[in-house]
Amino acid sequence: MPDADPSEVAGHVRDVETSRPEDTEALGEALGAAARGRELLGLVGELGAGKTCLVRGLARGLGADPERVHSPSFVMVTEYGGGRLPLAHVDLYRLEGPRVDELFLREVLYGEGVAAVEWFDRLPPGAGDEVLLVTLRYAGGDRRTIRLEAHGARHVRWLDAALST
Ligand code: ADP
Ligand code: MG
Repeated sequence: MPDADPSEVAGHVRDVETSRPEDTEALGEALGAAARGRELLGLVGELGAGKTCLVRGLARGLGADPERVHSPSFVMVTEYGGGRLPLAHVDLYRLEGPRVDELFLREVLYGEGVAAVEWFDRLPPGAGDEVLLVTLRYAGGDRRTIRLEAHGARHVRWLDAALST
């Protein structure tokens, strides 16, 4: 299978099920603790699926203040300092059409620290190829199934490091 998508290779895709917001936050925290810088987390899922909840854990794992993390409804990018690495939190919910400043996005998505992008599926194709793609789905009540797909060596390492502890 020479043309296989590397994300389909076993180990680069992991499924996690959570049954409480705290568990989703803990998954984010593990990712934050394992981050080394220049990671991109792409979050996909309906309203209320738990994207922001996971970013709150991510902030905690990086040593930033998790209480500051909210779903930004008007602001597109929020930066959280104070941690081991800076965290850029982006929400593309209001992004309309392909009118994105690509240079701006590239700077945010691949900065020094970690970038977490909600509604990552609204990005134009090709804007973020190297990414840890996280898809959250409702699984009844407070349960969520969370699929993590690592694209690129840095994100494969990140996923392995976060889930091995
Ligand atoms: P999103 O950013 O995807 O719109 P939020 O993280 O803001 O979602 O909200 C998720 C909501 O779902 C919160 O009210 C949270 O308490 C609730 N919730 C219930 N169970 C879970 C779970 N297993 N994981 C994450 N959130 C959960
Ligand atoms: Mg949100």
